[in-house]
Amino acid sequence: MFVLNEIKSFTNQYRDNLIRNRLETVSCEEGHFDIQLLELKGAEPAQKERFTLLLVAGVHGLEWIGVTVLLHFLSHLIETSRWNSGVRQMLSTARIVAIPALNPTGIIQGRRATAQGIDLMRNAPIKAESPVPFLGGQTFSPVLPYYRGTGDLAPESRALVSAVNSLLETSSGVVAIDLHSGFGARDRVWTPWSMSSARPPHWEHYMALENALNESFPDHVYTFEKQSESYQTDGDLWDYLLVENLNRNGPLFMPLTLEMGSWNWLKKAPWHAFSKLGWFHPIAPHRVQRVCRRHLTLLDFLVSVCANGKDFFKKEA
Ligand SMILES: [Zn+2]
Repeated sequence: MFVLNEIKSFTNQYRDNLIRNRLETVSCEEGHFDIQLLELKGAEPAQKERFTLLLVAGVHGLEWIGVTVLLHFLSHLIETSRWNSGVRQMLSTARIVAIPALNPTGIIQGRRATAQGIDLMRNAPIKAESPVPFLGGQTFSPVLPYYRGTGDLAPESRALVSAVNSLLETSSGVVAIDLHSGFGARDRVWTPWSMSSARPPHWEHYMALENALNESFPDHVYTFEKQSESYQTDGDLWDYLLVENLNRNGPLFMPLTLEMGSWNWLKKAPWHAFSKLGWFHPIAPHRVQRVCRRHLTLLDFLVSVCANGKDFFKKEA
């Protein structure tokens, strides 16, 4: 199913389980599209006491698999909570919020950037120490990839910034995971700070996350690393949000990126390399299912971490 229709049928099916908010409406030749913020019902109103897990997908319009993984995970949580009181309890402690498609015009046009040609993960007003030429962000032309824009935040970026800031105002901490695909043969969990080779803020908490993942799920599939070990980029929105939050002394904010290594999908069906989508999305349905299943453990783990956020992040929470 086309991925924007997947979102529609998900929100219809689970309309009683979700609070839906429109963050922004963006337009292109194909029409107008809402950027939605979905929140799972189940949490009590005393939200300030709680940690929030924010799931984001569809930042790059070709990376459809992230949207599918996100929806698959939310429906797993909702369905499990129907019969499992432990999960219900967890969802009353952790707040689960999702932006299933930040870049709907890119998705409908089958391109990484927005319809205006802007690469959202290069769009923030923030400079790297030594960005990789071109891939690290360019200001020459929106026709070329990795275009940073003209200096202003794109409406999609503004939508993310205002959503994160309002979650930070109403939570005792926020863990965010941004779902991407297409880079490398392994699944990577990246800590932020792609602007520098230095360690990101809250490094001790990132190490605690990695250790807990390693100890609790010794067979997990992830390479946990700093994004800047792969490449440095200008204009990363998560770095920007992190800096802003530090400047105003906000609560703990821990953004992560899941980069699903897609080169294995290509190894199994190399002819998909001829399709633009094939580089970023496993095309065979059984492979899509396998990818969704593969990441349930990590996402479940992050829900547990948020449900126990106060103890887990003792130092700062
Ligand atoms: Zn991406």
